[in-house]
Order: sequence, then structure tokens, then C-alpha cells
Amino acid sequence: MMEKTEQGLGRLCVIGDPVEHSKSPLIQNAMIAKLGIPYHYTKRLVHQGDTQEWLDTARREGFAGFNATMPHKVALVPLMDELGEDARLYGAVNTVCIRGKRCIGHNTDGMGFYQALTDLGVEVPGRRITLLGAGGAAKAVALKLVQQGAGPITVCNRTPQKAEALCNLAKGRMGHIGFALEDLRRGARDCDILINCTSLGMTGTNSQFRDLSFLDELPGHAAVFDLIYSPAETELLRQARLRGLKAANGLGMLIYQAVFALEYFAGVRINAKEMEQHVIEACGLGGEA
Ligand code: NAP
Repeated sequence: MMEKTEQGLGRLCVIGDPVEHSKSPLIQNAMIAKLGIPYHYTKRLVHQGDTQEWLDTARREGFAGFNATMPHKVALVPLMDELGEDARLYGAVNTVCIRGKRCIGHNTDGMGFYQALTDLGVEVPGRRITLLGAGGAAKAVALKLVQQGAGPITVCNRTPQKAEALCNLAKGRMGHIGFALEDLRRGARDCDILINCTSLGMTGTNSQFRDLSFLDELPGHAAVFDLIYSPAETELLRQARLRGLKAANGLGMLIYQAVFALEYFAGVRINAKEMEQHVIEACGLGGEA
């Protein structure tokens, strides 16, 4: 049975390590308040290696569900009673619904990314795509793009082994090159959509692209999408806009993946467009997208 908080609300949370920085409680509680649904969302520090122990706790304490961030997304997969299609595809879970004692694992990262991209008016089928990065986010993005019929995907990554492992997940659809300026130039040439899935330019990382002149190689119709949402405008996006290119940050993806997670938790349909402005204001996530 689902336990309630003292106020009679269904319990939800995000787990991770670190988790302090997570914007999920702000975003989810803003949506919960706007929708007037009976849930409350918190955060829990759960260390690496403690995923199973946390699941036992969540069941015992009657949680209705939780989101997972690093380092639990992959570890959750074999612990689920049931997996949604995308969670199976990516081999990673970011949303767990607890129904009775059964845990159902979903992944809303790829869906969130794809919805945000199509909101930009960018069509994916047949488009040539260059992905910068080959980490966890790049994997969800790449596999969603492949699933949606994207044209050839070129992965540029600093560590070639990681790029190769990613490309092996969809052989014949993805190829990889390096991350030197000449590679980035090659990747940008003839590309329709360039997506930054690295952490370069993110607040707090102190690392930036050394040279963004590769953007000069992009055709004029190309779109540039940065998964980073803090700062609201990375140097990559600023430079893309200076060149007159269509550009967007990762805020839309962040909000959509949260909307889809709450739909799974609460079993309701949510109008994401109605939520967007409310969430941005309630969470102070504004700034130029
Ligand atoms: P991750 O698994 O740690 O991957 C990080 C990627 O960045 C790897 O490809 C790594 O290359 C590359 N990288 C890091 N430092 C670099 C440097 N100095 N030079 C070149 N490449 C570098 O992280 P992730 O989970 O994929 O997240 C990546 C970014 O996406 C983060 O900024 C995160 O905030 C953002 N993100 C946004 C959303 C959203 O909702 N908008 C969701 C998920 C992630 P190597 O393989 O060589 O290490």
C-alpha cells in the first residue's frame, strides 16, 4: 500500500550522489502544485552500491516512485520487476514507479530530449547529426535519434573507446571521429543538427571548448542544441547565434523529462506547454534559452 506523508500526500523523491544540486524537487513540486495532485517530492542521498538497499527502503516506506540520477541509473536495471521500452533500449533507468511491491523502471531522458528538439521545429528523420560527447546523456540522445529515423550520426568524443562503444549500439547508423579541432570541423561540415552532450561550458566545471571556430563549417540551416541549461546560454550557443544559427539549451529537455516522469508516477496526462512557464518562474530557471 502507498504510504502517505503526514499531510496525506504520496511520496516521491530523487536519489543520487551527489543529489544536493538536483533541481528535480523544485520542478516536480512546482508541477504538483500547479496540477493540484496529492504528492510531495523530496531528495535522498543514496551512495553508489546502496541501490538495492534503497529499493527495499522505498518499498518499506511506501514511496509511490522516485527518479534516479548518477550513479544509480544503470544499477537499477537488473533490480526492476518490469522495464519500459526506452529503459531497456538505453540500459538505464531514471524513473521508477512502485506499484504495490513491484518496481517498474522507465527512462524519460530520450523522450524529453526529443520533444524539446521537435519543439524547436527541427525535423529528425533523415537529418545528418553530429553529437559531441559519448557519455550517459549522449547515449540516450543517440539511441532516441536512431529510433526516430535520423540520418547518419557522427560522434566526436575525447575518449575514442567510449565513442566506439556507443557507436556499436547502432552499427551502420553511427560513426566516430576524435575531438581535435580538425575533427570538430569535419563533424560540423554538412551537418544538419549539432548537439553538445559534453559538460564543456557547464557552470561549475571550469572547462570550455578551446576553439569554437568549427561552427563556421555548419551550413546556414543547421540547428545547434546544447544539453546544458546552466548557464542558460553557453559560449557554444552564443557563438552559434552570432552566426545566425537556430540554437537552444537543455532547459526544455530538463522540463520534459520531468513532465514525463510525473505522468508515470501519477498516471495523469500533463500539458507540458502549460507547465513550462510556470516551472521556469517557480524554479528561477529563466534566462535566454
Ligand atoms: P558524462 O556521462 O559524464 O559524459 C560527459 C561527456 O563530456 C563525455 O563524453 C566526456 O568525454 C565529455 N567531456 C567532459 N570533459 C571534457 C573535456 N574537458 N573535453 C572534452 N570532452 C569532455 O555526463 P552526462 O550525464 O552524459 O552529461 C553530459 C552533459 O549533459 C552535462 O553537462 C549534463 O548537465 C547535461 N545533461 C543535461 C540534461 C538535461 O535534461 N538538459 C540531461 C542529462 C545531461 P570523455 O568520454 O572523453 O570523458
